[in-house]
Amino acid sequence: MSRLVVVSNRLPAALKLEDGQWKVRQGGGGLVTALAPVLRNRGGVWIGWSGAAESGVDVDGLLSDFSAEAGYDLCTVSLTRSEVNDYYFGFSNEIIWPLFHDLQSRCRFHPRYWRAYLDVNFKFAETVARRSTSEDYIWIHDYHLMHQAFFLKSMGVKRRTGFFLHIPFPTPDIFMKLPWRWKVIQALTEYDLLGFQTVQDRRNFARCLQRLMPEAKVRGRGAVVTVNLGNRSFRLGAFPISIDFNQFSSMAKRKDVIGRTFELKEAVRHRKIILGVDRLDYTKGIPERIRSVQTMFKRYPDLRGKVNFVQVAVPSREEVDEYRELRQEIEQLVGRVNGEYSLPGWVPVHYLYRNLPHDELVAYYSAADIALVTPLRDGMNLVAKEYCACNNTADGVLILSEFAGAAAQLQRNAYLVNPYDVEGVAKALHRAFYWSREERRASMAKLRDQVRRNNIFWWVDSFLLAGIAKTLGDFPEIETVHFERS
Ligand code: UDP
Repeated sequence: MSRLVVVSNRLPAALKLEDGQWKVRQGGGGLVTALAPVLRNRGGVWIGWSGAAESGVDVDGLLSDFSAEAGYDLCTVSLTRSEVNDYYFGFSNEIIWPLFHDLQSRCRFHPRYWRAYLDVNFKFAETVARRSTSEDYIWIHDYHLMHQAFFLKSMGVKRRTGFFLHIPFPTPDIFMKLPWRWKVIQALTEYDLLGFQTVQDRRNFARCLQRLMPEAKVRGRGAVVTVNLGNRSFRLGAFPISIDFNQFSSMAKRKDVIGRTFELKEAVRHRKIILGVDRLDYTKGIPERIRSVQTMFKRYPDLRGKVNFVQVAVPSREEVDEYRELRQEIEQLVGRVNGEYSLPGWVPVHYLYRNLPHDELVAYYSAADIALVTPLRDGMNLVAKEYCACNNTADGVLILSEFAGAAAQLQRNAYLVNPYDVEGVAKALHRAFYWSREERRASMAKLRDQVRRNNIFWWVDSFLLAGIAKTLGDFPEIETVHFERS
């Protein structure tokens, strides 16, 4: 029987150092929920890094109980501290992440990072080769591991492979800045199927490919197209990732979550809530967003005292200077707006720098009248979809950056803005504030419908259908185990 082998930089269960002790924590997210039944049913394997850079930790021991309960194997690839620094913080986060998000001025093209990236990819590919057979389907995730198919082939290991890129793929003028552009493109052509978030990303890839390998011929139309290159062919597809709609929607209907939603509304005295939720990352446009809110209060005094902006910023990459500076900048901006506009009994901006528990996040989504999702560039942006799923009353407004992958799907019913245009965003906020209930309902109901239909299970289906001509329906449903162990 052919198994599914999922490969990603991080395992769905991560080791975390808490109070001096390593603990196993399940990574949440729709991807794990959607893939768990397939992995279990097929005796599948998930290969990835555990998140622990230290030696001397009994990683396999800690994860083996987790594997037994989850019903599929977790296989760790261990990385040394210097590999984590150069491959993960370096190549992945200081080169590919900014470059693919169109922020090339933030890239540090150190050759040492490239070498570490290749070494670690080789290490992953060796593990994949060891833990799989030629019957298996290997599904590789994201920009950290673009060289898996390349290394498997160079080792003479035959496997069916699919790759999904969770972040955007840039246009040729940006991609060409990468010193190792030819090698990266060439490595990507070794997969049988390459998946992107949007048709635009897929087109960008095809244009880069044709620039660097003019002999490549792209054929076909629709979601999945074929590339002929020499004596082989492979496929390119657009598969917008999504969320487990029902899980969010039903959590928002839970009695305790409804109670908490009401408390949050009451805490701001039933003023309207504008909500921003992001990992604290420079691609998310948080400073620009706060400036837009500032401009909104300046241009539209009618909104002063009537609305609160709540920004949840989830700590991310805190060890990196750039992220620490961004945090300071955000905190200064919040202070400035609050200094300028606070009134007795009203503080305009509420800033939460922490990771919220899942039910608390859902309560914030449900309480918000307007979601302000304005990344400068984003592969998809799941926050936009989660907001719609939680909005069971369907009377919220989604203001969405035109540079988020989600805009390609949601543009008809979201209020699209350019996140760099602070006046435009301020105007959008002002208009959204006065939208009638009917207008809000009409748009939100359609947004919800779209996210409900094109959910995470649909996404896995579309990828597997293109990759192995199978859908989730071919795998019996198994209840997901909720597991937390210390
Ligand atoms: N999120 C979280 N804790 C929080 C706030 C948000 O875990 O306190 C989650 C949120 O539910 C969403 C994810 O963080 O699934 C952010 O995903 P998105 O695609 O918007 O951006 P990314 O961080 O992957 O770039």
